[in-house]
Amino acid sequence: NEVEELKKKLDDAKLTPEAQKVADRELKRLAKMNPAQAEHQVCRNYLENLAEIPWTKMTEDNLDAATLTKARKQLDDDHYGLDKIKKRLLEYLAVLKLKQAVNMDLERQIQAITQASQPKEEKAEEASSEDEEDVAPSTKKEEAPREQTPEEVRILKHKKMVDKSPILLLVGPPGTGKTSLAKSVATALGRKFHRISLGGVRDEAEIRGHRRTYVAAMPGLIVNGLKKVGVANPVILLDEIDKVGTSSYHGDPSAAMLEVLDPEQNHTFVDHYVNISIDLSKVLFIATANTLETIPPPLLDRMETIQLSGYTTLEKRHIATRHLIPKQITTNGLSLQDVQLKDEVIDKVITSYTRESGVRNLEREIGSVCRSKAVQFAEAKDTNTLPVYSPSVSVDDLEDILGIERFDEELAARTAQPGVVTGLVAYSTGTQGSILFIEVADMPGTGRVQLTGKLGDVLKESVEVALSWVKSHAYELALTHDPNEDIMKARSIHVHCPSGAIPKDGPSAGLAHTVALISLFSGKAVPPNIAMTGEFSLRGKVMPVGGIKEKLIGALRAGVKKVLLPQQNRKDVKDLPLEVTEGLEIVQVSHIWEALPHIW
Ligand code: ATP
Ligand code: MG
Repeated sequence: NEVEELKKKLDDAKLTPEAQKVADRELKRLAKMNPAQAEHQVCRNYLENLAEIPWTKMTEDNLDAATLTKARKQLDDDHYGLDKIKKRLLEYLAVLKLKQAVNMDLERQIQAITQASQPKEEKAEEASSEDEEDVAPSTKKEEAPREQTPEEVRILKHKKMVDKSPILLLVGPPGTGKTSLAKSVATALGRKFHRISLGGVRDEAEIRGHRRTYVAAMPGLIVNGLKKVGVANPVILLDEIDKVGTSSYHGDPSAAMLEVLDPEQNHTFVDHYVNISIDLSKVLFIATANTLETIPPPLLDRMETIQLSGYTTLEKRHIATRHLIPKQITTNGLSLQDVQLKDEVIDKVITSYTRESGVRNLEREIGSVCRSKAVQFAEAKDTNTLPVYSPSVSVDDLEDILGIERFDEELAARTAQPGVVTGLVAYSTGTQGSILFIEVADMPGTGRVQLTGKLGDVLKESVEVALSWVKSHAYELALTHDPNEDIMKARSIHVHCPSGAIPKDGPSAGLAHTVALISLFSGKAVPPNIAMTGEFSLRGKVMPVGGIKEKLIGALRAGVKKVLLPQQNRKDVKDLPLEVTEGLEIVQVSHIWEALPHIW
């Protein structure tokens, strides 16, 4: 019989006392209903859902003494480099392990107290310990909640503190390994893994479910995730938390997320459909984002950010050799010795066919190469010409397989011209940082400044600051012989940043603008293989900017030889990969007067 069957399923599901009460009530209701009633189906669905939620079921964590070493190995096996990030993740796991030990101890103490204070005949099993209810699932009559001893209150408080673990937020450009790191953490811990994609979630009900009165109501993403993994302590990846919608007429999804992530609230998370509090405190949440800018501040406040930056060509080559190529060869049905890519070929794919901070497109291109080798291999097999099949791929072969190269070194073709300066950009969309030419031209006019190239307001202001400084120092800069002359008199200037379709903003090109103006007015060209970045103040100071690693990788790729950076960015310089510091002459300046001698 149907009701019996459901009852059995629910018994197996080990419900919390609160859920058990609701389930008992609904079961009774269901038994009385006519199966032809629409409500019958609704009620049945609801009970099925209750039975599928892992109320108390958990997997054992892999956290004995040896497993921290194992976790380290897991992270190292799956990912090249990322040392700082791996270190942080291991710290996190170590703390988790310590906390679990403390927690178990506290739970035991509570259990001892409860058992001691319970009358003998009442052999109630201890339910989830946050729950103050002492009603055993089987007892029908309500009993008055027992007074908590001060000792118990103290332990519970301690336990609550220990229960809180920070939620990690991995933030960085696309394809840098955020999702796959989170997966590795789950594997290392031996926990189940579930990914929830928050990108484009506009409706609060998607996260928290629809009320049962709603036609075709369903639980939300969180509860569905728990149902799917079937345990209460999985690793749940909240992917693209920067793209979750905020307040709209569909409710506020970010507010729902806040509740999910808040350790004060998430042990009593209520899904609208289920309408019983569910304990999410055992879930290990890891979030990922491409940028911090669009994450609502209260949400960001609940998480601990770990920053990933882009990879250099050398790092990418290692990632390709150790991870991407073997993976693509096997997915395409070949064995490892059937495809051979020399370093120079890999480098060519990296520099001429991709332009990205991460390695996602690189993996795609390598996939294309492997597929094409798979076709050759299969043909050779069919025509019995396997002995002449060559596993190696040369640089020349690449053009046949991947088409003509998509990106070329930009600097090679440039000649030095007064008024043109090589700047550096790091796009927030996570394409690799790159160089950007800033062009200034003058013409007869009335002192007007024209700006083109889709420049944002902050960038426009930074041009004005640069111009004001140059105007007020024209005499010291030897741009005029008369200290009282206005160098902009009877002149207009036009500032342009090519690749006009890409919007650019931010103050970080201030130094480059200033140098471009000085170069224009003095007629001295700046060698194009000198690049610069830095915010510029009216007093001539060069101030720190973001994205240094991305920018320098881009500069190195484009053939820049020397870069001028703000002195205050020295901590970023300290963290740069050897490849960058060896390939580039890095000059750090704090004032424009310090910068100029490095240019001319
Ligand atoms: P997005 O922001 O677009 O979601 P992501 O950071 O989540 O990007 P992943 O999907 O984790 O990127 O990574 C893309 C691919 O690159 C995966 O196959 C991943 O294994 C691989 N990868 C990235 N970084 C490394 C690394 N350091 N070592 C080995 N493989 C890597
Ligand atoms: Mg991802």
